[in-house]
Amino acid sequence: MRAVVVREHGGPEVLKLEEVADPSPSPGEALVRVRACALNHLDVWHRRGIPGAPFLLPCITGADIAGDIVSVGGEVTGFAPGDAVMILPTLSCGVCERCERDEDPLCRSFGILGETCDGGLAELVAVPARNLFKKPERLTYEQAAAGSLSTLTAWHMLVTRAQLRAGETVLIHGGASGVGSAAIRIAKHLGATVIATASTSEKLEAARSIGADHLINYAKEDFVQGTRAVVGKAGVDVVFEHVGGEVFERSLRCLGWGGRLVTCGATTGVDAKVNLRHLFFKGQSILGSTMGSRAEFAEIVRLHADGVLDPLIDRVLPLEEIVQGHQALETRAVIGKVVMNP
Ligand code: ZN
Repeated sequence: MRAVVVREHGGPEVLKLEEVADPSPSPGEALVRVRACALNHLDVWHRRGIPGAPFLLPCITGADIAGDIVSVGGEVTGFAPGDAVMILPTLSCGVCERCERDEDPLCRSFGILGETCDGGLAELVAVPARNLFKKPERLTYEQAAAGSLSTLTAWHMLVTRAQLRAGETVLIHGGASGVGSAAIRIAKHLGATVIATASTSEKLEAARSIGADHLINYAKEDFVQGTRAVVGKAGVDVVFEHVGGEVFERSLRCLGWGGRLVTCGATTGVDAKVNLRHLFFKGQSILGSTMGSRAEFAEIVRLHADGVLDPLIDRVLPLEEIVQGHQALETRAVIGKVVMNP
C-alpha cells in the first residue's frame, strides 16, 4: 500500500510517500481502507520531534481516520466488511481503574493512533475493534475524519473538565482553528455565550458562521480589553486555552469569580505566571486536559448524526500533497481542518 512514512524528525521534506507492506491485523483488530485522514498539529510535532516525547519512528502518522472495513479479526463482533466507520483516535487498555471510570487519557497505557503506533496517512490501517464506530450516514468521510480528534479534545475540555453550562460565557482562543472551531460548536450546543478570538477578519467570519456571539481580532485589539468590553468586570466563566505563555497569563485576567481556565496545549511557551491571590480568592480553577474518553467519543458520534457538531474543513488534498498539508497547518494559513485523501 501507499503510505506517508516519517523515518526521521525534521522539516516537511522528511514526509515521504512510500510503497510499504499492508498492515496485518491481529484477531482483535479490523483492517480499514482509509477514505479520509485529517491532520492535526500533533502530526507536525511528531514530524519535528519533541525531546522526551514517545513518538514512534519510523511511523505512519495520522490520528483522524474514516473509512470502510475490509476485514475483521476472529474476535471482532458487531462489525463486518463494507461497514463505513469513523475511528476513536486514542488507545487505552480498557480494563484498568481509569478506563473503567471513563478516564482513558489517564490510563498508563494511553496512546494515540499515528503517534504511538501506525496511523491513517495510508491506504490501509489496522485498528482495535473497540476503536470502531459506525459513521453516521449524513457525514462525509472527510467530515467524519475532521470531526474526530479536535472535537473529542474540545469536548473533554469544555464538558468534562470545565463543566460549561447553559447561560455561561466562554472565551475561546483561536476560534477558526481545528480545536477552537470544534469548541464553538460544542459551547453553542451547550447553550453558552461564545467570545471567540482570531487574527484575521476571514477567520473571525468563519467563527461567526458556526455560532460565535462576540468576536475579537487579537492582532488589532488586546483580547483582555475586548473581553471586558463584552462581560465587564464580571469576567467570563470559562477560558478555552491552547496557546500557552503570555496568552495563558492574560487569559487568567479574563476569568470571573468561580471561573475555570482549561488548557490542552502550549504552542507558544510552557511557562506562565499565575496570580495566586486571584486564583484562591475568586475560587478559580486551572484545568489540564488531553484528548478524551471512548465514552465521550460515542456521545460525539451520536451528536454528529444530529448535525450539531459539523467540523469546519479548510481543504481536502490528495496524499501526494502531504507536504503542502503540513505547511498550511504550520503557517496557520487554515480555517478549520486539512483533510487528506489516500
Ligand atoms: Zn486503562
